[in-house]
Amino acid sequence: MRALNNLTIHELHELLKNKEIKSSDITNYYIEQIKQKDTLLNSYLYVDFEDALTQAEQADERIKKINNSDFPYLTGIPLSIKDIFLMRGKKTTCASKILENFISPYDSTVVRKLKENNFIFLGKANMDEFAMGSSTENSAFKTTKNPWDVKRVPGGSSGGSAASVSADLCAGSFGTDTGGSIRQPASLCGVVGLKPTYGMISRYGIIAFSSSLDQAGPISKDVLDSAILLDAAAGFDGFDQTSRKFKIKKYSEIVKKAEKSKIKGLKIGIPNEFLSEGLDNKILSNIQEIKNNLKELGAEIVEISLPDTAYSIAAYYVIATSEASSNLERYDGIRYGMRFTKNSPNDINDVNGPCGLNNGNSNPGNLTSLEEIYTKSRTAGFGNEVKRRIMLGTFALSAGYYDAYYKKAALIRKLIIKNYKDAFSKVDLIIGPTSPTPAFLIGEKANDPLSMYLSDIYTISVNLAYLPAMSIPSGITGKKNPNDTGLPIGLQIIAPWCSEDKMLETAKIIEDIVDFRKKYQPDLNF
Ligand code: GLN
Repeated sequence: MRALNNLTIHELHELLKNKEIKSSDITNYYIEQIKQKDTLLNSYLYVDFEDALTQAEQADERIKKINNSDFPYLTGIPLSIKDIFLMRGKKTTCASKILENFISPYDSTVVRKLKENNFIFLGKANMDEFAMGSSTENSAFKTTKNPWDVKRVPGGSSGGSAASVSADLCAGSFGTDTGGSIRQPASLCGVVGLKPTYGMISRYGIIAFSSSLDQAGPISKDVLDSAILLDAAAGFDGFDQTSRKFKIKKYSEIVKKAEKSKIKGLKIGIPNEFLSEGLDNKILSNIQEIKNNLKELGAEIVEISLPDTAYSIAAYYVIATSEASSNLERYDGIRYGMRFTKNSPNDINDVNGPCGLNNGNSNPGNLTSLEEIYTKSRTAGFGNEVKRRIMLGTFALSAGYYDAYYKKAALIRKLIIKNYKDAFSKVDLIIGPTSPTPAFLIGEKANDPLSMYLSDIYTISVNLAYLPAMSIPSGITGKKNPNDTGLPIGLQIIAPWCSEDKMLETAKIIEDIVDFRKKYQPDLNF
C-alpha cells in the first residue's frame, strides 16, 4: 500500500477514485497517527475510532457501488471537528466543564452536510473554552501544543483543529472564527484557514459565542482542500436567521483553474496600519517578499489605509463580550450540563444528555434556592476567561452604560465597515499579516489577557465588517540552530463581501509560488 503521510483531501480522493486505497486504510492510518502523537500534542478532546472505522466501511461500500467513480470529494475522508459543533449522539463540550458530559441532541448544519457527503468523523478537536482565546490554553481539559515546536501554542481558539491538520492527524478540519480563531491558529501551525463571508455557512447547531461575529470555516493542508470543504458546507439554511442566499460558486473548480496570468492587473492593497509597530521583523520581510512576487506577476500594489484599525480590538471586546454575556445565560445548571446540587464543592452532578429534565437527575440537593443553583453551577462550571468576558459584557450592557460602551462600539463597527468599503473602491483584494508574531511560548501570555487580545489585531476588523478572509502559509522564520525547523508565517488575504472566488484563486497562485508544503514540514519524529 502506498504511503499515506501528509496527503491532502484531493490527493486522497484521487487514490480512492482509482481504487488504489480504501477509506478504511486512510482511517486506520490516522488512528495510528493519533495514537502515536496525540498523547503529546493534545489536539483532540475525544476520539471515536470504532465509529470512524464503521463509517469508513460504509463509505467503502458506497464507493464500490458507484460505477462512474464520480463521488463527492469528502466521501471516505476523515476529518476532525472543533468541539463547538453539535453532532447527534456525540459529546459537545466547547472545552468547558459546564458542558463536560453534554450529548448533542441533533446535528449542526455543517455536520449534517458533511454526513451527506459521507465524511469520516475522527473526533472533536480541542479549543479555547467557548472559543474565547488565542492559544487554546483556555481549554478546561488540555493544552494543545504546536506541532512545529511543542513548547509553543498552536494559536486559538481553533488550536486543536489547526494542530491536528498540521501534524497530519486528520485530512482536514472545521473551526469557527469570531475574531480570528480560524486564521490565527492556521497561521501559527503552517496550514490554510478560511473565514467565509458572514452568513455563508449556517451557524445552526454551533454553540454561540458572539452571534453577529461567529462564522464557521475550514482548516486544511492546502487551498484546494479549503475550497472543497467550503463547497461542502456553504449554502442557505432556513434554520439560521442570519444565513444569506448568496450566489454560491463551486470554489474548488475556480481553484483548479487558477493561473498566474490572473494576477496581471489585479489591484492588491496593503494597509499601512498592518505594517506598524508590534509586527515581527521576519513577518514584515515575508510580506515584502510576497509583495515583490505579486508585482513580478503584474499585480499593482497599492498602499492603502484602514484608519480606524486601532479601535477594532476595543470595539470587538465590547460587542463580543456583550453578545457572549447574553448567549451564555442559558448555562444555568438547569437546562444543560453541569449542575451543582449540594452545598459542597465535591457534589457536582451532571445533567447528562441534551435536556436534563428527563433523566431522573433533577434533585436540587440541599441548596436552598434556584439562584444558589445558578450561581454555584456557573461558578464551578466556567473558567476564568469566560467569567471575565461575561462580567465585561454584562457591565457594558447594564442600564446607564449602554450609550457609553455598546453604542459607541457599534458606531466604531460602522466606521470599520466604511474603512473597508473605501479601500475596496480602490483595490480588488487586501493582503497583510495574519498574526503579529509567530507561535508564542505556552504560558507566555497566559496571565496577560491584554497582550493575548492583541494577537488578533489584524484579524478582528474582518469579522466586524462581515468580510471573508483567509490565512495561507507564506514562509518560515529562520532556524536558530540546526535542529530548529523554524516557525510558520501566515499571510492574510481579505476580500470584498462574498468574493471568496477571487480570494481563493489568488491564494492558490501565491501558494504555488511559495510552495510551502513541499519545502517545510513540522519535525514530528517522536
Ligand atoms: N481571540 C479572540 C477572542 O478571544 C477571537 C476568538 C474567536 O475568533 N473565537 O475573542
